[in-house]
Amino acid sequence: MIQAPKGTFDVLPDDAVRRERLEREAARVLGAAGYRRIETPAFEATELFTRGVGEATDIVQKEMYTFDDGGGRSLTLRPEGTAPVCRAYIEHGMHKLPQPVKLWYLSSFFRAEAPQRGRYRQFWQVGAEAIGSASPETDAELIVLLAELLEALGVRGVKLTISSLGSPETRAEYRDELRGYLRDHEQQLSPEVRGRIDLNPLRAFDASDRGTREVMRDAPKLLDRLAPEDAEHFAQVRALLDDAGIHYELDPALVRGLDYYTRTLFEFSSDALGAQSGVGGGGRYDRLMELLDGPRTPGCGWAAGVERILLSAGELPVQADVVDLFVSLASDDVGRTAFSLALQARRAGLNAQLELAGRSLRGQLRHADRIGARYVAIVGEEGTSLKNMETGEQLELSPNEVIPTILRGSRLS
Ligand code: ATP
Ligand code: MG
Repeated sequence: MIQAPKGTFDVLPDDAVRRERLEREAARVLGAAGYRRIETPAFEATELFTRGVGEATDIVQKEMYTFDDGGGRSLTLRPEGTAPVCRAYIEHGMHKLPQPVKLWYLSSFFRAEAPQRGRYRQFWQVGAEAIGSASPETDAELIVLLAELLEALGVRGVKLTISSLGSPETRAEYRDELRGYLRDHEQQLSPEVRGRIDLNPLRAFDASDRGTREVMRDAPKLLDRLAPEDAEHFAQVRALLDDAGIHYELDPALVRGLDYYTRTLFEFSSDALGAQSGVGGGGRYDRLMELLDGPRTPGCGWAAGVERILLSAGELPVQADVVDLFVSLASDDVGRTAFSLALQARRAGLNAQLELAGRSLRGQLRHADRIGARYVAIVGEEGTSLKNMETGEQLELSPNEVIPTILRGSRLS
């Protein structure tokens, strides 16, 4: 038996309804702040991600689905959305538009990871990017928007942590300092952390083994090394979040998987999730555009995992589908009349379903009841009887009286 590939899943109709609800809320929350939707290709030139996400990241080192397109060009299924959106910004000359350009997406992404609850090989993210503004209001507004989206969707146990990474120059100096510190304590570190001291010493903050954690408690912190203008930017972001009544924790050890971040960094987690507690995160990426050969342009954004939002949101109230009319057949010979009645009902704006399974008349009525049809039209050779399923009232009509009768009834109720 052929099954869905490991780490993938089918979105069945009940789940699709919850996703539609998420999409509507995202469109509402982000649309109100002037964000407009964008969709980029599902695969891109591999170089976009090696450059734009960074060679030292888990994503590039272990998680990309990369293939040859048959003509010697290396392509990669998109593992994230920021680099593609920035590529599109450059490619379409969006720097000529009023800045910042505010975009949002809801798309699927691909990472070769060990599948578990909340971690898949194809998953969906809702994301927002504001490109062309360095103002702290942009960072704070983006954080507020994600907080509001999670709130609107009823995500439980939400926690926000924020930090600042400063500039790449400060980071480089700090990295050297941290490398020195890690080397001084090499014996206590896990082999994995030790192996990464040169490549990415910041990742030591992410380690879960006791030895490394103990060393990291007293490690120098980047937040204490920020340049004055970066520290000021961060202070303004925090003040705006305070004004907005958004609660957050400062986590000087917050380190994200992506290498291109500058200044503000944030993550929303939920304790309704297990080990994979990250719901969404993002930050500022003022140097990414140059890495992609674009004009120097500041940017800020976030991405949140759709499956993790839904896992931590519990029951989302969704509206049941309304069925105004179920068209049933009293005999085999009325197929064309019944078919055209259902068609005309839909053209008149009603939700109408036609019997398609050859059930007995009793079976058809039971089915109409099960799907919650408001009316059932039983099409016979002599005429049509229309049954109001709420009142039980039944009228004998000619086929062309059926729709006006339902429409009159709908207006009365
Ligand atoms: P994690 O630490 O859980 O691996 P990450 O740092 O790789 O997360 P990001 O790249 O920042 O995550 O992606 C943003 C969000 O996308 C995450 O917070 C999570 O909700 C979701 N996400 C990331 N990877 C996956 C995945 N493999 N399956 C499902 N959702 C994912
Ligand atoms: Mg990850």
